[in-house]
Amino acid sequence: MPRLRFLGTGTSTGVPQIGCHCEVCCSTDLCDKRLRTSAMLSLDNGAHILIDCGPDFRQQMLRWPYDKIDAALITHEHYDHVGGIDDLRPFSFRKSIDVYTNERCAHNLKQRIPYCFAEKKYPGVPNISLHGLSELKPFCVAGVEVVPIEVLHDQLPIWGYRIGSMAYITDMSSMSSDEMLKLDGVKLLVINALRHTLHHSHQSLSQALQVIDKANAQTAYLVHMSHEMGLHAIVDKSLPPHVHLAYDGLEVEW
Ligand SMILES: [Zn+2]
Ligand SMILES: [Zn+2]
Ligand SMILES: [Zn+2]
Repeated sequence: MPRLRFLGTGTSTGVPQIGCHCEVCCSTDLCDKRLRTSAMLSLDNGAHILIDCGPDFRQQMLRWPYDKIDAALITHEHYDHVGGIDDLRPFSFRKSIDVYTNERCAHNLKQRIPYCFAEKKYPGVPNISLHGLSELKPFCVAGVEVVPIEVLHDQLPIWGYRIGSMAYITDMSSMSSDEMLKLDGVKLLVINALRHTLHHSHQSLSQALQVIDKANAQTAYLVHMSHEMGLHAIVDKSLPPHVHLAYDGLEVEW
């Protein structure tokens, strides 16, 4: 059975947020410690596909080790989703690592970490094969079909991904009804929920619950949470039985 490990479930600041003394940031419950949002998909064929590679990537790999990564899917160019790409280095010693994203995000990465993509590379830089995809069409990664799902992050179009009966969407504020069709029949839906109140670029908890309902997802896990979501133990209990707050390190099968 395919498995998904939540490597991080926090918003861009992480939880605790630097300098904050609220009850969530001071909580000793490990479920309230949220690294930046990222996940590792482990397929039946033995492949490991990383989804996003944020600034906590090194820490995440030391805590939940993987001996190889076959490919990475990037949702968008914000630092909390790409800040750890240089740390892919140890995974690219023997063979280059395929990184897939949309054309705009790929262009942005080339400007931000140009040394990884230079014609004549400085010795020892990460060996990355960057695929900036211009079309919203299914593509093949490590022997499986990946369907990109375009969602809006405020006004910025970013990508979520569907692989088999799992879909992964982060940093969404809204999606079109056409893209929503790609969630049809999804067993496991990973989707973002920032906090209870509205935000211009991220879904609130009630907006996320509406999408989960509309998609008719069998099971859903929420990610990209801020400290304003509240204590894990209390909020998780308040959710419908098929919806859960994800937490760092949790591994689910479907
Ligand atoms: Zn983010
Ligand atoms: Zn706080
Ligand atoms: Zn973002």
